[in-house]
Amino acid sequence: MDSIRELSIKELEKIIINLNEKKFRAKQIFQWIHQKGAEEFDEMTNLPNTLINKLKENYILRNMTVERISESDNDGTKKLLFKLSDDEVVETVVMQYKYGNSVCISTQVGCRMGCKFCASTIGGLKRNITVGEMLGQVYESNKYLQKNINHIVLMGSGEPLENLDEVIKFLKMINDPQGYYLSLRNITISTCGLVPQIRKLADENFQITLAISLHGARNETRNKLMPINRKYPIEELMKAVDYYIETTNRRITFEYAMIKDLNDSDEEANVLAKLLKGKLVHVNLIPINKVEENDFYPSDEKQIYKFKNILEKSGINVTIRRELGSDINAACGQLRNNYNLTKIEIIKKL
Ligand code: SAH
Repeated sequence: MDSIRELSIKELEKIIINLNEKKFRAKQIFQWIHQKGAEEFDEMTNLPNTLINKLKENYILRNMTVERISESDNDGTKKLLFKLSDDEVVETVVMQYKYGNSVCISTQVGCRMGCKFCASTIGGLKRNITVGEMLGQVYESNKYLQKNINHIVLMGSGEPLENLDEVIKFLKMINDPQGYYLSLRNITISTCGLVPQIRKLADENFQITLAISLHGARNETRNKLMPINRKYPIEELMKAVDYYIETTNRRITFEYAMIKDLNDSDEEANVLAKLLKGKLVHVNLIPINKVEENDFYPSDEKQIYKFKNILEKSGINVTIRRELGSDINAACGQLRNNYNLTKIEIIKKL
Protein backbone atom coordinates (compact mmCIF):
# COMPACT_ATOMS: atom_id res chain seq x y z
CA MET A 1 0.00 0.00 0.00
CA ASP A 2 1.20 3.52 -0.77
CA SER A 3 2.03 5.95 1.99
CA ILE A 4 -0.10 9.05 2.27
CA ARG A 5 3.07 10.97 3.20
CA GLU A 6 3.96 11.03 -0.49
CA LEU A 7 1.03 13.25 -1.46
CA SER A 8 0.93 17.02 -1.91
CA ILE A 9 -2.24 18.98 -1.11
CA LYS A 10 -3.18 19.01 -4.82
CA GLU A 11 -2.77 15.23 -5.07
CA LEU A 12 -4.74 14.74 -1.87
CA GLU A 13 -7.56 16.89 -3.24
CA LYS A 14 -7.93 14.64 -6.28
CA ILE A 15 -8.06 11.57 -4.10
CA ILE A 16 -10.52 13.09 -1.66
CA ILE A 17 -12.89 14.02 -4.47
CA ASN A 18 -12.66 10.48 -5.85
CA LEU A 19 -13.60 9.21 -2.41
CA ASN A 20 -16.72 11.41 -2.57
CA GLU A 21 -15.58 13.66 0.23
CA LYS A 22 -15.29 17.45 0.48
CA LYS A 23 -12.21 19.02 -1.06
CA PHE A 24 -11.25 21.02 2.06
CA ARG A 25 -10.52 17.75 3.85
CA ALA A 26 -7.32 17.49 1.80
CA LYS A 27 -5.83 20.47 3.57
CA GLN A 28 -6.82 19.09 6.97
CA ILE A 29 -5.20 15.74 6.22
CA PHE A 30 -2.04 17.45 4.94
CA GLN A 31 -1.84 19.55 8.12
CA TRP A 32 -2.20 16.47 10.32
CA ILE A 33 0.62 14.67 8.57
CA HIS A 34 3.07 17.47 7.87
CA GLN A 35 2.35 20.19 10.44
CA LYS A 36 1.18 18.21 13.46
CA GLY A 37 3.28 15.11 12.80
CA ALA A 38 0.41 12.62 13.10
CA GLU A 39 1.50 9.00 12.87
CA GLU A 40 -1.93 7.35 12.94
CA PHE A 41 -5.07 8.16 11.00
CA ASP A 42 -7.01 7.96 14.28
CA GLU A 43 -5.25 11.09 15.51
CA MET A 44 -7.07 13.12 12.83
CA THR A 45 -9.89 14.08 15.16
CA ASN A 46 -11.52 16.70 12.93
CA LEU A 47 -12.20 14.16 10.16
CA PRO A 48 -15.38 12.06 10.00
CA ASN A 49 -14.88 8.38 10.88
CA THR A 50 -16.10 7.33 7.45
CA LEU A 51 -13.23 9.23 5.84
CA ILE A 52 -10.68 7.91 8.34
CA ASN A 53 -11.80 4.37 7.48
CA LYS A 54 -11.52 5.01 3.76
CA LEU A 55 -8.00 6.38 4.23
CA LYS A 56 -7.03 3.33 6.28
CA GLU A 57 -8.33 1.03 3.55
CA ASN A 58 -6.25 2.74 0.89
CA TYR A 59 -3.09 4.05 2.51
CA ILE A 60 -0.50 3.56 5.18
CA LEU A 61 0.78 6.62 7.05
CA ARG A 62 4.14 5.68 8.56
CA ASN A 63 6.39 4.50 5.76
CA MET A 64 9.34 3.45 7.93
CA THR A 65 10.19 2.05 11.33
CA VAL A 66 13.14 2.86 13.53
CA GLU A 67 15.27 -0.26 13.83
CA ARG A 68 18.16 1.10 15.77
CA ILE A 69 19.41 4.30 17.39
CA SER A 70 23.12 4.86 18.06
CA GLU A 71 24.32 7.76 20.15
CA SER A 72 27.73 9.40 20.15
CA ASP A 73 29.46 9.65 23.50
CA ASN A 74 31.43 12.64 22.27
CA ASP A 75 28.88 15.09 20.99
CA GLY A 76 25.36 13.68 21.36
CA THR A 77 24.98 13.01 17.63
CA LYS A 78 22.39 10.31 16.99
CA LYS A 79 22.15 7.96 14.08
CA LEU A 80 18.87 6.27 13.25
CA LEU A 81 18.56 3.20 11.11
CA PHE A 82 15.19 3.12 9.36
CA LYS A 83 13.56 0.16 7.70
CA LEU A 84 11.46 1.20 4.70
CA SER A 85 8.24 -0.47 3.53
CA ASP A 86 10.12 -2.77 1.13
CA ASP A 87 12.62 -3.78 3.85
CA GLU A 88 15.46 -1.67 2.47
CA VAL A 89 17.26 0.27 5.19
CA VAL A 90 18.67 3.79 5.33
CA GLU A 91 20.54 5.82 7.87
CA THR A 92 19.70 9.33 9.09
CA VAL A 93 21.79 11.46 11.44
CA VAL A 94 20.63 14.10 13.92
CA MET A 95 23.21 16.64 15.09
CA GLN A 96 22.94 19.28 17.77
CA TYR A 97 24.46 22.67 17.18
CA LYS A 98 24.31 25.90 19.12
CA TYR A 99 21.76 27.27 16.69
CA GLY A 100 19.49 24.23 16.73
CA ASN A 101 19.13 20.70 15.51
CA SER A 102 20.08 19.50 12.11
CA VAL A 103 19.07 16.29 10.39
CA CYS A 104 21.14 14.71 7.64
CA ILE A 105 18.88 12.63 5.41
CA SER A 106 19.60 10.03 2.75
CA THR A 107 18.25 10.49 -0.78
CA GLN A 108 19.06 7.07 -2.22
CA VAL A 109 19.42 3.58 -0.80
CA GLY A 110 23.11 3.12 -1.54
CA CYS A 111 24.79 5.17 -4.26
CA ARG A 112 26.35 4.52 -7.65
CA MET A 113 28.71 7.49 -7.83
CA GLY A 114 31.68 5.37 -6.75
CA CYS A 115 33.69 8.01 -4.84
CA LYS A 116 36.72 6.09 -3.62
CA PHE A 117 36.66 7.36 -0.03
CA CYS A 118 32.95 6.91 0.71
CA ALA A 119 31.25 3.98 2.45
CA SER A 120 27.77 4.69 1.07
CA THR A 121 28.72 3.66 -2.45
CA ILE A 122 30.40 0.36 -1.65
CA GLY A 123 27.30 -1.79 -2.29
CA GLY A 124 26.15 0.26 -5.30
CA LEU A 125 22.72 1.80 -5.75
CA LYS A 126 19.60 -0.06 -4.64
CA ARG A 127 16.95 2.54 -5.43
CA ASN A 128 15.90 6.15 -5.12
CA ILE A 129 14.26 7.38 -1.96
CA THR A 130 10.80 8.85 -2.48
CA VAL A 131 9.64 12.29 -1.33
CA GLY A 132 7.53 10.67 1.41
CA GLU A 133 10.56 8.76 2.64
CA MET A 134 12.66 11.94 2.73
CA LEU A 135 9.91 13.66 4.73
CA GLY A 136 9.53 10.53 6.86
CA GLN A 137 13.19 10.68 7.88
CA VAL A 138 12.63 14.23 9.16
CA TYR A 139 9.32 13.56 10.92
CA GLU A 140 10.32 10.25 12.49
CA SER A 141 13.62 11.68 13.73
CA ASN A 142 11.71 14.59 15.22
CA LYS A 143 9.26 12.32 16.96
CA TYR A 144 11.75 9.79 18.28
CA LEU A 145 14.28 12.24 19.55
CA GLN A 146 11.77 14.93 20.53
CA LYS A 147 13.90 17.48 18.83
CA ASN A 148 12.81 20.55 17.04
CA ILE A 149 14.63 20.03 13.79
CA ASN A 150 15.24 23.33 12.05
CA HIS A 151 18.00 22.48 9.59
CA ILE A 152 18.07 19.76 6.98
CA VAL A 153 21.04 18.62 4.95
CA LEU A 154 20.68 16.25 2.01
CA MET A 155 24.07 14.71 2.63
CA GLY A 156 23.31 11.19 3.77
CA SER A 157 23.72 8.25 1.47
CA GLY A 158 23.02 8.81 -2.22
CA GLU A 159 23.42 11.53 -4.81
CA PRO A 160 20.49 13.94 -4.40
CA LEU A 161 20.78 15.34 -7.91
CA GLU A 162 20.37 11.86 -9.42
CA ASN A 163 16.98 11.88 -7.74
CA LEU A 164 16.25 15.50 -8.55
CA ASP A 165 12.52 15.31 -9.28
CA GLU A 166 11.79 13.81 -5.87
CA VAL A 167 14.20 16.25 -4.22
CA ILE A 168 12.37 19.20 -5.81
CA LYS A 169 9.03 17.80 -4.58
CA PHE A 170 10.61 17.45 -1.14
CA LEU A 171 11.71 21.09 -1.09
CA LYS A 172 8.22 22.25 -2.05
CA MET A 173 6.47 20.06 0.50
CA ILE A 174 8.77 20.79 3.45
CA ASN A 175 8.40 24.52 2.69
CA ASP A 176 4.59 24.40 2.38
CA PRO A 177 2.95 26.84 4.82
CA GLN A 178 0.31 24.16 5.58
CA GLY A 179 3.04 21.68 6.43
CA TYR A 180 6.36 21.62 8.29
CA TYR A 181 7.02 25.07 6.78
CA LEU A 182 10.80 25.00 7.00
CA SER A 183 12.59 27.89 5.34
CA LEU A 184 14.53 26.78 2.27
CA ARG A 185 17.42 28.85 3.60
CA ASN A 186 17.79 26.19 6.30
CA ILE A 187 18.34 23.42 3.76
CA THR A 188 21.62 22.33 2.16
CA ILE A 189 21.90 19.98 -0.80
CA SER A 190 25.24 18.36 -1.49
CA THR A 191 26.27 17.02 -4.88
CA CYS A 192 29.34 15.33 -6.29
CA GLY A 193 28.92 17.54 -9.36
CA LEU A 194 26.22 16.50 -11.84
CA VAL A 195 26.48 19.43 -14.21
CA PRO A 196 23.12 19.37 -16.10
CA GLN A 197 21.23 18.90 -12.82
CA ILE A 198 23.10 21.81 -11.17
CA ARG A 199 21.85 23.99 -14.01
CA LYS A 200 18.33 22.62 -13.69
CA LEU A 201 18.34 23.29 -9.95
CA ALA A 202 19.61 26.83 -10.58
CA ASP A 203 16.61 27.46 -12.83
CA GLU A 204 14.27 26.54 -9.97
CA ASN A 205 15.82 29.42 -8.00
CA PHE A 206 15.29 27.90 -4.58
CA GLN A 207 16.88 29.80 -1.70
CA ILE A 208 18.69 26.67 -0.51
CA THR A 209 22.44 26.29 -0.05
CA LEU A 210 24.15 24.18 -2.68
CA ALA A 211 27.26 22.32 -1.57
CA ILE A 212 29.64 20.81 -4.09
CA SER A 213 31.97 17.98 -3.16
CA LEU A 214 35.17 19.01 -4.88
CA HIS A 215 38.02 17.21 -3.08
CA GLY A 216 40.56 18.13 -5.74
CA ALA A 217 41.52 21.29 -7.62
CA ARG A 218 42.94 19.55 -10.68
CA ASN A 219 41.35 16.95 -12.90
CA GLU A 220 44.28 14.66 -12.25
CA THR A 221 43.57 14.66 -8.52
CA ARG A 222 39.81 14.56 -8.78
CA ASN A 223 39.87 11.71 -11.31
CA LYS A 224 41.65 9.56 -8.77
CA LEU A 225 38.91 10.09 -6.22
CA MET A 226 35.63 10.68 -8.02
CA PRO A 227 34.62 8.83 -11.22
CA ILE A 228 32.04 11.58 -11.96
CA ASN A 229 34.95 13.89 -12.83
CA ARG A 230 35.60 11.95 -16.03
CA LYS A 231 32.08 12.77 -17.17
CA TYR A 232 32.00 16.35 -15.87
CA PRO A 233 35.55 17.67 -15.45
CA ILE A 234 36.38 20.68 -13.32
CA GLU A 235 36.07 23.22 -16.17
CA GLU A 236 32.49 22.07 -16.91
CA LEU A 237 31.66 22.03 -13.23
CA MET A 238 32.93 25.56 -12.72
CA LYS A 239 30.83 26.84 -15.62
CA ALA A 240 27.77 25.34 -13.97
CA VAL A 241 28.85 26.89 -10.66
CA ASP A 242 29.05 30.33 -12.27
CA TYR A 243 25.64 29.81 -13.82
CA TYR A 244 24.21 28.75 -10.47
CA ILE A 245 25.57 31.79 -8.66
CA GLU A 246 24.46 34.17 -11.41
CA THR A 247 20.95 32.72 -11.48
CA THR A 248 20.28 32.36 -7.76
CA ASN A 249 22.67 34.89 -6.23
CA ARG A 250 23.34 32.30 -3.52
CA ARG A 251 26.78 31.49 -2.17
CA ILE A 252 28.00 27.98 -2.98
CA THR A 253 29.82 25.84 -0.45
CA PHE A 254 32.72 23.70 -1.64
CA GLU A 255 33.46 20.65 0.42
CA TYR A 256 37.04 19.49 0.41
CA ALA A 257 37.90 16.29 2.28
CA MET A 258 41.58 16.57 3.24
CA ILE A 259 43.41 13.34 2.45
CA LYS A 260 47.01 12.92 3.51
CA ASP A 261 49.46 13.09 0.60
CA LEU A 262 46.72 12.98 -1.98
CA ASN A 263 44.97 16.31 -2.32
CA ASP A 264 46.49 18.40 0.46
CA SER A 265 49.69 19.83 -1.06
CA ASP A 266 50.50 23.54 -1.16
CA GLU A 267 50.43 23.27 -4.94
CA GLU A 268 46.87 21.91 -4.90
CA ALA A 269 45.86 24.75 -2.56
CA ASN A 270 47.32 27.29 -4.98
CA VAL A 271 45.42 25.82 -7.91
CA LEU A 272 42.24 25.80 -5.81
CA ALA A 273 42.78 29.42 -4.82
CA LYS A 274 43.04 30.40 -8.49
CA LEU A 275 39.95 28.39 -9.36
CA LEU A 276 37.77 30.02 -6.71
CA LYS A 277 39.21 33.51 -6.37
CA GLY A 278 36.61 36.25 -6.65
CA LYS A 279 33.64 33.88 -6.68
CA LEU A 280 30.73 33.91 -4.23
CA VAL A 281 31.88 30.73 -2.49
CA HIS A 282 32.83 29.26 0.83
CA VAL A 283 35.21 26.35 1.36
CA ASN A 284 34.75 23.71 4.03
CA LEU A 285 37.88 21.70 4.77
CA ILE A 286 37.04 18.34 6.32
CA PRO A 287 39.71 15.94 7.57
CA ILE A 288 38.62 12.75 5.80
CA ASN A 289 36.75 10.26 7.96
CA LYS A 290 38.11 6.77 8.13
CA VAL A 291 36.29 4.11 6.19
CA GLU A 292 37.46 0.58 6.92
CA GLU A 293 37.59 -0.59 3.32
CA ASN A 294 40.03 2.03 2.03
CA ASP A 295 43.45 3.42 2.79
CA PHE A 296 42.83 7.14 2.92
CA TYR A 297 44.01 8.98 5.99
CA PRO A 298 43.28 12.52 7.19
CA SER A 299 45.86 15.20 6.53
CA ASP A 300 48.00 16.44 9.40
CA GLU A 301 46.46 19.33 11.26
CA LYS A 302 49.42 21.54 10.39
CA GLN A 303 48.92 20.93 6.68
CA ILE A 304 45.20 21.62 6.94
CA TYR A 305 45.95 25.04 8.45
CA LYS A 306 48.56 25.71 5.81
CA PHE A 307 46.08 24.83 3.07
CA LYS A 308 43.55 27.13 4.71
CA ASN A 309 46.00 30.01 4.85
CA ILE A 310 46.83 29.72 1.17
CA LEU A 311 43.15 29.98 0.28
CA GLU A 312 42.58 32.85 2.69
CA LYS A 313 45.42 34.82 1.14
CA SER A 314 43.34 34.86 -2.05
CA GLY A 315 40.41 36.26 -0.12
CA ILE A 316 38.51 32.99 -0.01
CA ASN A 317 36.26 32.24 2.92
CA VAL A 318 37.35 28.99 4.59
CA THR A 319 36.28 26.95 7.60
CA ILE A 320 37.64 23.72 8.97
CA ARG A 321 34.68 21.57 9.76
CA ARG A 322 34.27 19.84 13.08
CA GLU A 323 33.07 16.35 12.37
CA LEU A 324 30.26 15.07 14.53
CA GLY A 325 29.41 11.48 15.29
CA SER A 326 32.50 9.77 13.91
CA ASP A 327 32.61 7.40 16.90
CA ILE A 328 29.32 5.88 15.74
CA ASN A 329 30.17 5.98 12.03
CA ALA A 330 27.67 8.78 11.54
CA ALA A 331 30.06 11.30 9.99
CA CYS A 332 30.28 12.25 6.32
CA GLY A 333 30.78 9.29 4.06
CA GLN A 334 30.31 6.72 6.80
CA LEU A 335 26.64 5.92 6.23
CA ARG A 336 25.62 2.59 4.79
CA ASN A 337 22.59 0.58 3.96
CA ASN A 338 23.70 -2.52 5.73
CA TYR A 339 22.91 -3.75 9.22
CA ASN A 340 26.02 -5.61 10.15
CA LEU A 341 28.98 -3.83 8.71
CA THR A 342 29.86 -1.51 11.54
CA LYS A 343 31.48 -2.95 14.59
CA ILE A 344 31.98 -0.12 17.01
CA GLU A 345 28.46 1.15 17.36
CA ILE A 346 26.98 1.88 20.72
CA ILE A 347 23.67 0.30 20.10
CA LYS A 348 20.39 1.03 21.78
CA LYS A 349 17.91 -1.59 20.61
CA LEU A 350 14.37 -0.35 20.74
N1 SAH B 1 26.41 12.51 -3.08
C1 SAH B 1 26.47 13.77 -2.43
C2 SAH B 1 26.00 13.75 -0.98
C3 SAH B 1 26.43 12.61 -0.10
S1 SAH B 1 28.04 12.58 0.56
C4 SAH B 1 27.85 14.37 -2.55
O1 SAH B 1 28.72 13.70 -3.08
O2 SAH B 1 28.04 15.51 -2.17
C5 SAH B 1 28.18 13.93 1.67
C6 SAH B 1 29.58 14.48 1.75
O3 SAH B 1 30.48 13.58 2.43
C7 SAH B 1 30.22 14.73 0.40
O4 SAH B 1 30.93 15.92 0.42
C8 SAH B 1 31.19 13.56 0.29
O5 SAH B 1 32.20 13.78 -0.65
C9 SAH B 1 31.68 13.49 1.71
N2 SAH B 1 32.37 12.26 2.07
C10 SAH B 1 32.18 11.03 1.59
N3 SAH B 1 33.02 10.16 2.20
C11 SAH B 1 33.74 10.87 3.10
C12 SAH B 1 34.73 10.54 4.05
N4 SAH B 1 35.18 9.31 4.18
N5 SAH B 1 35.21 11.55 4.82
C13 SAH B 1 34.76 12.81 4.69
N6 SAH B 1 33.81 13.19 3.82
C14 SAH B 1 33.31 12.22 3.03
